[in-house]
Amino acid sequence: MLEAYHRRNGLFPMTLEEMLAVYHRAWEQHMPPFLFENEWDAEAMRGEGVDVLTRFYHREQENRTRRPLYFEIGFAMPLRPGFQLTGRIDRIDATDAGEYWVLDYKTSGRALERLPRPEGSLQLALYAMGSESLTGKRPDLMGFYYLNHGEVMTTTVQQHHVDTVTEAFHMLADAIEMNEFQPMPEARKCSECVYQSKCPAFTQVENNLLTL
Ligand code: SF4
Repeated sequence: MLEAYHRRNGLFPMTLEEMLAVYHRAWEQHMPPFLFENEWDAEAMRGEGVDVLTRFYHREQENRTRRPLYFEIGFAMPLRPGFQLTGRIDRIDATDAGEYWVLDYKTSGRALERLPRPEGSLQLALYAMGSESLTGKRPDLMGFYYLNHGEVMTTTVQQHHVDTVTEAFHMLADAIEMNEFQPMPEARKCSECVYQSKCPAFTQVENNLLTL
């Protein structure tokens, strides 16, 4: 949806009405009523989507000095023989001043103060490296685009961000080479994991998961 907006945002930019019409068509096609407890829940969620898109539209209209170069783009960096650092970046923007920004969309409705910040984000540092591998230029800024709030927060990309990701990558690769796989249980990850029956750590968290 956001990508469709940007792809059209050239000579004939998409209007908010067109954007919402695309959204409602997609909703009718992909969100059947049985997915919801009742019609009020369905309408509330649909309305939230309208609010998010409306905020996004106005935020993008205000932004006249930065344009997206890539959306939802994958990268793979062969940092060491036999190992690749891979990921998918929501968006890379270029500014009129020649800066690159790497952005990750966040879609949580929680209060802004309770959402992750870009400073010290390993995820964004990884995307900054991926962005550099795609564009040939290290991004100047990395940040989160909080869609539910219509806010963008960024921080400068620094060498220590890249060093931290590279170090973590080599530690993991070392462990894999030595067949050292320490399970790292986490309720959300474990609840969807296909290795539950084989993982010794899952039995430790299973009771907690059942109460989630
Ligand atoms: S069940 Fe085990 S392998 Fe799966 S996510 Fe949890 S800790 Fe990792």
